[in-house]
Amino acid sequence: MRKLEDLIRPSVRNMQPYSSARDEFKGEASVFLDANENPYNGPFNRYPDPLQWKVKEKIVRIKGVKPEQILLGNGSDEPIDLMMRAFCEPRTDNIVAIDPTYGMYHVAAEINDIEYRRVSLTAGFNLDADALLQACDEKTKLIYLCSPNNPTGNSLSREAIYKVLRMFSGIVVLDEAYIDFSSQPSFLGELDDFANLVVLQTFSKAWGSAGIRLGMAFASPEIIHVLNKIKYPYNVNALTQQEALKMLERHDTVIEWVRVLLAERTELAKQLSLLPYVKHIYPSDANFLLVKVPDADALYRYLVNLGIVVRNRNSVSMCLGCLRITVGTPEENKVLLNALKKYNPA
Ligand code: PMP
Repeated sequence: MRKLEDLIRPSVRNMQPYSSARDEFKGEASVFLDANENPYNGPFNRYPDPLQWKVKEKIVRIKGVKPEQILLGNGSDEPIDLMMRAFCEPRTDNIVAIDPTYGMYHVAAEINDIEYRRVSLTAGFNLDADALLQACDEKTKLIYLCSPNNPTGNSLSREAIYKVLRMFSGIVVLDEAYIDFSSQPSFLGELDDFANLVVLQTFSKAWGSAGIRLGMAFASPEIIHVLNKIKYPYNVNALTQQEALKMLERHDTVIEWVRVLLAERTELAKQLSLLPYVKHIYPSDANFLLVKVPDADALYRYLVNLGIVVRNRNSVSMCLGCLRITVGTPEENKVLLNALKKYNPA
């Protein structure tokens, strides 16, 4: 890996971060007259903890990392963007990512005016480490990988990910939004071995909390320090922190949800495979199935007319004719299957 100092954008390296009232005073006090808050309407009159230490303390127990290795954001969409803002000089540096994958990497790159290079997955939706590395040059600061990948659903080969981590001199952002549904272990255990690894996870999927907008980035304390420098001071609001603390006490429930959803994924795949017009169900390590049908647009419209919304991925590269179907409750999946059984392709 190149020296972190050389990867950071010079303006970010040289800047002084904003220091909030909550940053400057730490400790016990009874009268807070430092942040121009309204003294009435507690507890929401107070700014939240800018570094969310209580939430991080609980995350640490589950994820087995150190608090200084965590950045919390407004969904994982925030660290996806922060990484680019911290490391990529607009119109100069570039990013390399797999294709197809989660659409926000490209959107964030466009917003930040950073060249975005796509490298196709193999026909089996796997990572071609050599092709990915060949697409990189001295201006490539970040590689974005997603495993299990959205919208394909599969985990990328671990060996290929290791190869990229070993050979790339910039930073690898590995999005593990769906890791709790995967048969593969997380790369969190590799953080100490790879200084250039950033793992993204989220409360939006297995944790059942997409509405609170809470994403996690895990990396070396040095990388987390850079992200903390440029994030908005109070990027995770008090209500979100409060609810996250509650959810983190319900880890057993989350494990049970995952167990049910995995059983439902198996059953849904089995039932879908019995439909004569279904051409292919791709193997999934996530909480959704990518399903190939003869006319995805027509089937999508048929389902919408019945009040059932799936994601039409027909226009996504390598996903021609595909719908992405999230695994729902047993009841929701039955409603979907009943509708699909009645469908008559023209
Ligand atoms: N990464 C991937 C791969 C996703 O599919 C999604 C959401 N669809 C996200 C990140 C965004 O997650 P969040 O809600 O944490 O912003």
